[in-house]
Amino acid sequence: MSLAFDEYGRPFIIVKEQGQKSRVKGLEAQKQNILAARAIARTLRSSLGPKGMDKMLQTGDGDVTITNDGATILEQMEVENQIGKLLVELSRSQDHEIGDGTTGVVVLAGSLLEQAEGLLDKGIHPLRIAEGYEMASKIAVKRLEEISDVFEYGVDDYEPLVKTCMTTLSSKIVGRCKRSMAEMCVKAVLAVADLERKDVNMDLIKLEGKVGGKLEDTRLVHGIVLDKDISHPQMDKEIKDAKIAILTCPFEPPKPKTKHKVDIDTAEKYEQLRECEQKYFSEMVDQCKESGANLIVCQWGFDDEANHLLMNHKLPAIRWVGGVELELLAIATGGRIVPRFKELTAAKLGSAGTVKEVSFGTTKDKMVVIEDCANSKAVTIFIRGGNKMMVDEVKRSLHDAICVARNLIRSNRIVYGGGSAEITCSLAVEKAANEVPGIEQYAFRAFADALEAVPIALAENSGLDPIESLTAVKSRQVQEENPYLGIDCNEEGTNDMKKQNVFETMIGKRQQVLLATQVVKMILKIDDVISPAAYQ
Ligand code: ADP
Repeated sequence: MSLAFDEYGRPFIIVKEQGQKSRVKGLEAQKQNILAARAIARTLRSSLGPKGMDKMLQTGDGDVTITNDGATILEQMEVENQIGKLLVELSRSQDHEIGDGTTGVVVLAGSLLEQAEGLLDKGIHPLRIAEGYEMASKIAVKRLEEISDVFEYGVDDYEPLVKTCMTTLSSKIVGRCKRSMAEMCVKAVLAVADLERKDVNMDLIKLEGKVGGKLEDTRLVHGIVLDKDISHPQMDKEIKDAKIAILTCPFEPPKPKTKHKVDIDTAEKYEQLRECEQKYFSEMVDQCKESGANLIVCQWGFDDEANHLLMNHKLPAIRWVGGVELELLAIATGGRIVPRFKELTAAKLGSAGTVKEVSFGTTKDKMVVIEDCANSKAVTIFIRGGNKMMVDEVKRSLHDAICVARNLIRSNRIVYGGGSAEITCSLAVEKAANEVPGIEQYAFRAFADALEAVPIALAENSGLDPIESLTAVKSRQVQEENPYLGIDCNEEGTNDMKKQNVFETMIGKRQQVLLATQVVKMILKIDDVISPAAYQ
């Protein structure tokens, strides 16, 4: 820092920014970056596969998350390192586009970088490695397409979809009842899917959770679940053929916007004021009644007076419903959101077959279930679980499975899991390596070795000898010409993943290979890291 003066003689301070920056260049930069990325990938390795471990993460304010989902782990780890952040982004983009395979993609990227380090030591230029990786990834993707299977499914015959979702769920906390959970996810997706356009509107699938009960109590509701109760205990708790008024105006007398003061000095004046207030309330209730509504859903609260009046008029009501829920409700029931009482008309009411308040055991917790909605096919999976961490993790797991089902509806191609796809891709790349004339040959071999990280991690996490299992499966794949052989993680007695029904979506696996290669190329091309020096 130094002191200087401008043309008017005013002093100012020059901060020498360059002096405060640290800079790493050349090979040193690549090595440092690889080291950082590998450290992150190593953390995720033990979470891969059906026997993968969960991670427990605590935020600064003491919130605890237990999860097995790669994207969530990385997001909560609050990675500081800039290269680490690239991997967090990698996992996130896999999550966005595919929804599953978020751990696998980081493990693969970590392994590609590890192999690249060996090549750098041999003196191969990082750009040649990057180019070699790019070419090798194309061969791997081609091989994936060759071995992919197409399966047919129908709205009635959705067994293959269920089996694929079960593979996704097998590594999660819900593994215990994966069959019923997978069925629920598939039914939810099929309920909202547009099979002709091969698309699924994910906004119509809602995951709601409530602490308590058992995991087995989780159920699929063909409608909407609101985490609210009916506002008065004596109101009807079950409404058939509900006509719903969806209001964003509060049930209270209008308040003047300006500052005001009311002087009440006699009992008569007080009485007058009360009557006036009551008139407002009864007008509002009358307006609701006149429109033909038999249920009021309001974004705001209302006081006891209004509540009592509504009860007397046999108008059940739900208060404090959030904006998002209100919108979903309006879409699902075909109603309009009404901002003023006087705009309420019969045409603006939403309709639903049944609206029911359900309570849970002896707890005071209540929820409102709205089923058989008029307009839309919105569904809700209502999750129960022992504690909040469990419910949150089940939500994340089911989200993965729902994404897998959606991906299959978009493209019904699958590859087999358990590392079998990676091994056969690795063999294909290795074979191609011998035909590459340039230095890229080394990159091809490194790519082939890197692909083996997935089966190795799967075997390691299942308590098997990693190298022994991998070499055995690999040689059998070549001898038997069967690309479906993978790691038998659950010791079911066969390595044939087709027989074990361990599927993954083809687009998911392809995306893993492409995204991991892309990020690794990006990291390899960095040869200058300029960052602010550590705070002293
Ligand atoms: P991700 O977050 O990447 O989906 P998972 O922890 O779900 O990671 O693990 C997925 C991996 O586990 C895939 O490679 C899949 O093939 C493998 N896998 C899942 N179930 C089985 C199984 N029953 N046997 C062998 N491998 C399995």
